[in-house]
Amino acid sequence: MPWFPEDWIDEVVVRNDIVDVVNQYVEIKPRGRGYFGLCPFHNERTASFHVSPERQIYHCFGCGEGGNVVSFIMNLERIEFVEAMKLLAERIGMPLPEGTNRERIRQDRNEKQQFLDINKECARYFHQNLMEPNGKDALDYLKSRGLDARILRIFGLGYASNKWDGALNHLKGLGYTDEQLLKAGITVENAEKNRIYDRFRNRIIFPIINVRGEILGFGGRVMDDSLPKYLNSPDSPTFSKSINLFGLHLAAKVRPLEYLIIVEGYMDVISLHQYGFSQAVATLGTALTTEQAKLMRRFSPEVYIAYDGDTAGQAATMKALDILRDAGCRVRVMQFPNKLDPDDVLKQYGPEYFGKLMDKSLSLIDYKLSKLREEHDLNTTDGKVDFATAAAQVLAEVNNSIERDAYIQELESLLGIRSRAIYDQIARIQAMNRKQNKGQRNSTGKYRYTKNKTRTVVLKPGSVKAEAHLVNLMVQGKTNAAKVIKGLEGLTLQDPLYQQTVVIVQSLLKRKGEVSEALVLSHMEDKEDIRKLVDIFQQEMEYDNIDTFLSDCLNNVAKGIIERQRQELQSEITIMDREGIEDPDKYKSLLKELQQLNHKLST
Ligand SMILES: [Zn+2]
Repeated sequence: MPWFPEDWIDEVVVRNDIVDVVNQYVEIKPRGRGYFGLCPFHNERTASFHVSPERQIYHCFGCGEGGNVVSFIMNLERIEFVEAMKLLAERIGMPLPEGTNRERIRQDRNEKQQFLDINKECARYFHQNLMEPNGKDALDYLKSRGLDARILRIFGLGYASNKWDGALNHLKGLGYTDEQLLKAGITVENAEKNRIYDRFRNRIIFPIINVRGEILGFGGRVMDDSLPKYLNSPDSPTFSKSINLFGLHLAAKVRPLEYLIIVEGYMDVISLHQYGFSQAVATLGTALTTEQAKLMRRFSPEVYIAYDGDTAGQAATMKALDILRDAGCRVRVMQFPNKLDPDDVLKQYGPEYFGKLMDKSLSLIDYKLSKLREEHDLNTTDGKVDFATAAAQVLAEVNNSIERDAYIQELESLLGIRSRAIYDQIARIQAMNRKQNKGQRNSTGKYRYTKNKTRTVVLKPGSVKAEAHLVNLMVQGKTNAAKVIKGLEGLTLQDPLYQQTVVIVQSLLKRKGEVSEALVLSHMEDKEDIRKLVDIFQQEMEYDNIDTFLSDCLNNVAKGIIERQRQELQSEITIMDREGIEDPDKYKSLLKELQQLNHKLST
């Protein structure tokens, strides 16, 4: 948690009543034991958005959104945790925690504001240039690419004239100093010649704007074949190219925003807008980063990758796929004919065709398999075997076994290979992944749990349910919490999110002697995690005696852990059986261990 003490966070959450806060944004009316209103997170006509004053959480029965007062603000205002906390603290007039360096914050804020002011003035200047006689070539160029006046305005496009001191003189005329302009990246310094001059010359200018409408920097594109084709503002304490996206400020205004389209270039984004696809965004001249993927995930769970059809574009697609998937996005890949880019496709074939290509886009797995198919000659036996081996690697990533089965059957009929062989290959890869994950997990410290990319061990439903019940019990008051925590001594829940909850509850008990759903949620930052937990909190538990229920749950959890160990052992033994036993002693001891586990499970 960045720099806020946990007690301070708790107090902000407790003092901001969720009903009051939600009421500022959504009209909610009392019904039953809580309040209902129209969900602000999805389009609906009947009120399925529920706020519970007792539990201080909200939950939508329509779209499944849920959380506490902090996640509500984060989701609705689309801001990060730290910003949400500041906003809530301000709302109740609570000062920032002791130890926060106020002077430093004030200074940072002033510097940031100055940076933004300079960029704003500069963007104005570039835009004006474009409309003046000396910007005629640039304007003609943009018009020739099919952009109309409205698009030029909403993107704030501009022109940096072919002078060394255009922006420099203009901004100095407004009172800014050389030093300030250098810091903002508007100008560059040649130390040898002791000269300062404009960074952008004779280029079309694309302002980079964040969702708050602040101008963070610029991208500049040449109008001929000179190099570099694109030039961007440098990174600075207030602007990082790796955490922002071009076009997001406009995409964010689309409601409901059901998907985003990620493209490679600024011109692609603009062209898509022109043709009615306002969901388009682009990275800022670098490859897609994890931060950018997470940023997209905050706005929409579904992302279409629409990179160029050429080789470089396809390689970038492969990389982006995994990054987006790991950030929790559902990914679709668009494929363009004849190595075209999205801009070409729209111009040559029109928006309807583009829409059709979206419909025909491939899922992550389909795309990876289709690429593998292109790489292998399926007319030869070697080609088939290599393809099947590579395909098994891809299919090992599929967590849903029904989905995986469907793919395997397709492969079987395509290749004429027995599906048993493919299943075996997948099992082997998964066992290997598991071993690797195990190593990673041990190295990340006591309270860090890496989520397995391939969570392959199928848990007994009994233990999964029991874990969820325990989590649910744990957040309902300190008495229950203490009982569950005591019962879990020496046990680690298998779901990393649940185990994280255990750690939070332990800490709350120790620090405050108090536990509630809302308090637990305020120590979670990941939106999906919060959603999952609220879902569990909503589930009704049926029991006569809480102590019996608790011990049943604990029993199931313990059995689940043994079952998992047993499965891991079993798969290790299976591999040894198949590949030959190199170390008979190890083999024997594994068998013995397996026997013991089997015994434990049967009692
Ligand atoms: Zn909803």
